Amino acid sequence: MSFALEAVDVGKAYGTVKALDGLTLNIPRGGIFGILGPNGAGKSTLFRIVLGLVRPTTGETRLLGAPAGDIKALRRIGAVIETPRFLPWLTARDTLTMLALESGLKTPDIDGWLQRVGLTEAADRKVNGYSVGMKQRLALAAALLTRPEVLILDEPTSGMDPAGILEMRALMRELADRDGVTIILASHQLDEVQRVCDSVAILDRGKLVKDGRVDQMTAVNERLRLQASPRDTVLELLGAKGVADGADAAFAAIPRAEAPALIAALVKAKVDITEARWIGGDLETVFLDSTGDADAR
Ligand code: ADP
Repeated sequence: MSFALEAVDVGKAYGTVKALDGLTLNIPRGGIFGILGPNGAGKSTLFRIVLGLVRPTTGETRLLGAPAGDIKALRRIGAVIETPRFLPWLTARDTLTMLALESGLKTPDIDGWLQRVGLTEAADRKVNGYSVGMKQRLALAAALLTRPEVLILDEPTSGMDPAGILEMRALMRELADRDGVTIILASHQLDEVQRVCDSVAILDRGKLVKDGRVDQMTAVNERLRLQASPRDTVLELLGAKGVADGADAAFAAIPRAEAPALIAALVKAKVDITEARWIGGDLETVFLDSTGDADAR
């Protein structure tokens, strides 16, 4: 398998702070991969190391199979990892034209990228007056100009309003599915990662605590909550798979495929079911189970 990003036993110490602590992680090419973790987990440090901006204290990383900082590999990468800064007196169009010239692009599709990031109407306004979210979009257009194979984004929706967040998610999906760009994003927002990412690595205090496909991870902690009477009959039928929830409800730890048979058995046993609802099935539960971090709520 070819990997977009590989990290082998990477450590990075800032004085006594271990920003990364023996991180080993492989991110395959294709789709959208989320690096999820609370603030200070080491997400940005990992990006800075793979882009060759800081050196790891231990271990090594590879981008598209090449060592950190390799210029040829970096040309195939787009990244937005800092709060974007642009020359304030230039318009978005002028900014992209200048960057395209710097990168030696012969036929940059500036209008196309302005449109895809939603800046067509603001294209001829000075960047000075842009909101943080608009600057993020411009930074994304700048990163996409060179048609990168891998796009690295640190907290891509920070500073954006809800409508902007939705547009950003749609654009990321389109870039991954239609343009074949591998997107690696860092976020501390569970909701964002669950909605947009195909796979995720959960980081905590510089360590990998869990990784895998989002759909598989969230399927594991799903439970069926049954509000039913008599509740004890439900628990008897469920045996080891049942746990009481208050006086009139129970959790059934069963896969979805077993639900119809369970409900049929409950009806046969003359149990009145007032509500049957799947709960869990979210990254928040996975995240809290793996990090014990109540701050993420
Ligand atoms: P995240 O991106 O997950 O929020 P960071 O990678 O930015 O986490 O930071 C991880 C830890 O390393 C934090 O404790 C942070 O304070 C520390 N750190 C990051 N960069 C530096 C630096 N340049 N100097 C000192 N400490 C740093």
